[in-house]
Amino acid sequence: MSCVAETQRLAGASRAVNLRFAGFDFPGPGRENAELTAVAPHVDFGRAVVGKIVAGNWKMNGSAALTDDLLSRLRAGIPARFFQSGGACIVCPPFPYLPQAQRLLAGSSIALGAQDLHPGAAGAFTGEVSAPMLQDFGVSWCLVGHSERRHILGEADSFIRRKMEAVLEFGLRPILCVGETLSQRESGRQTQIIDQQLIAALVGLPESALGGLAVAYEPVWAIGTGHTATPGQVGEMHAHVRGWLRGHISQGFGQKVPLLYGGSVTPANAHDLLGQSDVDGVLVGGASLKADQFLGILSHAS
Ligand code: PEP
Repeated sequence: MSCVAETQRLAGASRAVNLRFAGFDFPGPGRENAELTAVAPHVDFGRAVVGKIVAGNWKMNGSAALTDDLLSRLRAGIPARFFQSGGACIVCPPFPYLPQAQRLLAGSSIALGAQDLHPGAAGAFTGEVSAPMLQDFGVSWCLVGHSERRHILGEADSFIRRKMEAVLEFGLRPILCVGETLSQRESGRQTQIIDQQLIAALVGLPESALGGLAVAYEPVWAIGTGHTATPGQVGEMHAHVRGWLRGHISQGFGQKVPLLYGGSVTPANAHDLLGQSDVDGVLVGGASLKADQFLGILSHAS
């Protein structure tokens, strides 16, 4: 299906969702297994992020001991000027460490993020975690559509769309991850793939619901491989994503939505990457597990 046809199909499908925005249709008691069907239209996302965003995705790594050590070091080590410049630092530990992380980060400016969630609010979804559960532990951001969930765990665009709606409905801030595989890039289809992922996740959602959105461009071939995209490739793709957001959401929205780059970011390449126009932050995997490396990246973001 062409991108245009897909846009039209999804816009049609989401009209039903849009109609319910005003009515705010939460699954309440007795509807525990119901799909979430509305998106909070006017969530106050608090302080605007005007500086850089540096987010750490621990993936399925860490321990209670690492959580203690890493978060204590981050609390002590992030330069005050990073937050004074309006920056946001987000850590996304595995679910079991969220209560511990919440305690360790209490009173700090470091925000807590989740790596994933289930689109339902509650119910018979063994092993899954919902947005309200995350909020019980102070989570304010959530990754949506990370490539490891798309490609290793087989999550389809349609499921990622439902997660996006759940994140928005409960007033979490989504970091929507998009990115092409190596073979998709080698066949010149990188922008087409990104467009498909953006269309599936966002088309039909009202701009008023998207105030907390950030988008992370994460080429799959750069994640965990040590092969960082060149600043030129990053600049080109970020300009494309921004253009898409201007065209499909609104000019003003596309201009201001934070765009993150992710894929083998280290202290050695962070300065160049963060210096690209249209790069408002970075999503960091491996290097976010080592305090000196994550702090090194943060030092380039102030
Ligand atoms: C990621 O997990 O989103 C990521 C970018 O990982 P890494 O920095 O290890 O490539």
